[in-house]
Amino acid sequence: MADKAGQETSSGKTGQGLAPAVKATGVHKAFGSLHVLRGVDLTVMPGTVTVILGPSGSGKSTFLRLINQLETLTAGSIEVDGELIGYKHVTKQGKDMLQTLNDKEIARQRAKLGMVFQRFNLFPHKTALENVMEAPVHVAGVPKSQARVQAIAELQRVGLGDRIDYYPMQLSGGQQQRVAIARALAMKPEIMLFDEPTSALDPELVGEVLTVMRSLADAGMTMIVVTHEIGFAREVADQIVFMDGGVVVEAGGPQIIDLPQEARFKDFINHVL
Ligand code: ADP
Ligand code: MG
Repeated sequence: MADKAGQETSSGKTGQGLAPAVKATGVHKAFGSLHVLRGVDLTVMPGTVTVILGPSGSGKSTFLRLINQLETLTAGSIEVDGELIGYKHVTKQGKDMLQTLNDKEIARQRAKLGMVFQRFNLFPHKTALENVMEAPVHVAGVPKSQARVQAIAELQRVGLGDRIDYYPMQLSGGQQQRVAIARALAMKPEIMLFDEPTSALDPELVGEVLTVMRSLADAGMTMIVVTHEIGFAREVADQIVFMDGGVVVEAGGPQIIDLPQEARFKDFINHVL
């Protein structure tokens, strides 16, 4: 018993003693006069799964894009893997300054992140294998023979070992999304960001993608998942975050799905269930 308890506290799942994989503090983002994020705080520990829920337009994608530095924050700070990627501070002269990384640092940070979108964006004229090999060979400079072996392993991991030479149009939407996941994994990310990965799929294809995501979570991958799949959230998430109107309205363990406290979260849950 004592051994088991010891193992649990030292496992990555609790993330004790480690730097957060992602730490957002008071994050604001405005597009001109449109104030999309209004002070978001979120901490994601290594090896955990965070599911972000929220109505359309609440700023979920914008938040993921800030973590991936596809957008620049307006105020607040974001740390990825213990490094500040952007923060607002006041200079000695009393001026507000937005500090961001330079291009080289952004590339180094981005390499830690894998992103999967609603639309798979595979190269249509390349096979599944070629799609997965593309970034390792052309971005990371991995020798082709080595990239090929790794890409086959990633495709096997998502259950597509028998489809490596298929072109995207020869694959179902669910299979294409699994190729997209394999493609992200091929760059050996530390953190995977999923932005509504099953929203564009026919209902009967959702399960196979969620199964792959669940196995990734079981393997200890740090994941931030924007989804409307409440069942997945309840079963896989360590942390649930409900966003609305650019703020975190409610956050907690998966039990908050069945015991929502805030009225807006209650309405949302009743609507999607
Ligand atoms: P969600 O993913 O929760 O549906 P988004 O983060 O995509 O929400 O969008 C939040 C709001 O920000 C929306 O009103 C959207 O139109 C707006 N928005 C997102 N990106 C941009 C942009 N690049 N320029 C202007 N407005 C944007
Ligand atoms: Mg979105």
